[in-house]
Amino acid sequence: MKIGLVDVDGHGFPNLALMKISAWHKAQGDSVEWWNGLKRYDIVYQSKVFDDTYSKDNEFVVMADRIIKGGTGYDLENRLPDEVEHIMPDYDLYKITDTAYGFLTRGCPRGCPFCIVKPKEGGKSEKVADLSEWWDGQKNIVLMDSNMTACQDADELFAQLAKSGAKVDFSQGLDARLITKSQCEMLNGMKLDRVHFAWDNYEFKTFEKLKLVREWLTIDRRKNGRLCPHELRHDARAGSGTCHAFKRNWLRSVCDDL
Ligand code: SF4
Repeated sequence: MKIGLVDVDGHGFPNLALMKISAWHKAQGDSVEWWNGLKRYDIVYQSKVFDDTYSKDNEFVVMADRIIKGGTGYDLENRLPDEVEHIMPDYDLYKITDTAYGFLTRGCPRGCPFCIVKPKEGGKSEKVADLSEWWDGQKNIVLMDSNMTACQDADELFAQLAKSGAKVDFSQGLDARLITKSQCEMLNGMKLDRVHFAWDNYEFKTFEKLKLVREWLTIDRRKNGRLCPHELRHDARAGSGTCHAFKRNWLRSVCDDL
């Protein structure tokens, strides 16, 4: 079969679902390529992560027997079949050689009202993969997990990451309220550029916990990493006016203090 792929977002960040779809079809012996409007395909997969605010849908005429649209930019219900979801992504699709992308957990119990994670992935953070499922020795690992520290298997997953020897990027941040001393010690053993904390519905005790975390973590001293509370972009939507300005100033003072 001839398979065409469309990354509707096209914002420079690789589309994980498309890399998995590509890997699965190649394993079936199909030919896979980026969609070309001059060609006809058996199936065209069109993936969109962001809503219409950030990514307009592809409105070109697509010549294909079947068009499959997926991703959170379309709805929160669509899922990859298990055999596709759990395949090693085809990093070659984006010519990526030194970085692995993926999830070890899905879901988050916080349920922030402005966030799609709970309705999409569930209100519990659960392990969905071992690192070896999508990491094959690359020197960088980009985690896309929403809240790994809320998962009951977090210690085991932190240990897998530490053992990899790769540089780890917790791209969605860590939850300061839940992180433990032993997890911080494992972070100390990882290659990290920085550690940042998701910063939703914060409260004073979060600040107190951050001070504790600051004592547990040594990465900023050893490897020029940075420990900084990070305001999730969602918060910009949640906060406004004086309240938002207050948050920013308060966060800045917390950063300085740390
Ligand atoms: S914004 Fe972050 S902490 Fe809140 S529900 Fe979403 S993933 Fe969880």
